[in-house]
Amino acid sequence: MGPAATNAPVSNPAATRHRIGKPDPEPTREVGCLVKEAAGAGGRRTSGWGWRGSNFLTRIVSVKAFSEHPVARSPDLQIGQRVVPGRAVPEPAGAEEWLLVGKALVAQVRREYGLPASLDTLAVGWTNVDGLESRRFIGGSRAPRARAALPNAAPHLQAPRVNHQFVDHAEQDVGNAFLDAVAGARADVRAYHWLRIYVTKASGPCSACAQGLDNRLVAPGVLGQLTQRFPDLTVTVAWPQPGGKLGNMILQNGERLW
Ligand SMILES: [Zn+2]
Repeated sequence: MGPAATNAPVSNPAATRHRIGKPDPEPTREVGCLVKEAAGAGGRRTSGWGWRGSNFLTRIVSVKAFSEHPVARSPDLQIGQRVVPGRAVPEPAGAEEWLLVGKALVAQVRREYGLPASLDTLAVGWTNVDGLESRRFIGGSRAPRARAALPNAAPHLQAPRVNHQFVDHAEQDVGNAFLDAVAGARADVRAYHWLRIYVTKASGPCSACAQGLDNRLVAPGVLGQLTQRFPDLTVTVAWPQPGGKLGNMILQNGERLW
């Protein structure tokens, strides 16, 4: 696995800058992915990893120049109220807003399917892929599925392990629902597109779902399979941690970037 889950704001270039000074085994990599995520969020196209080379600093500066800056404004504590079914999800700028957006999305799923607040695991995905911005991709583990008829997507992604404990997870459903939606809309997934997944699991994705993200020699889990299907797509997975923190991982083309 990559670095431990932290409270680092995702898609947040200021956090990127803050982290530059911190000791880290792979500082360039983590900065790069966050910058890339921010660039994608701002609608800029990026192409592969070419920019990690000589123009890397130029990129950071240009991303900072147009992105929202958390120092310039405090978190929007009302952002959850702007999460409206059938509409695009508002852009969360940092960890606090991410948590509010994620909680609002999950609350809407619980309301829609009559699931109690304590019944986990649920996951909700959303994307900026053209034509799919208002969609929600819903996932649930066995417990909520035993209580409610959550949507069933085609089984494009399969868990790499057969043990009962590691199959049919919420992240897998979200990935499959996304794949169904992309196919149904004949959508073109480009380099500036992202899929975001909020999971109600304090420990984040399990080792089977995340399998292969740091090791190409093993069979990829559902997250690795998903991101290998769309090598340019940036997938962010986030989850609430104790103490109001946000865990997150950023994935691309079968690898964990952060
Ligand atoms: Zn899992």
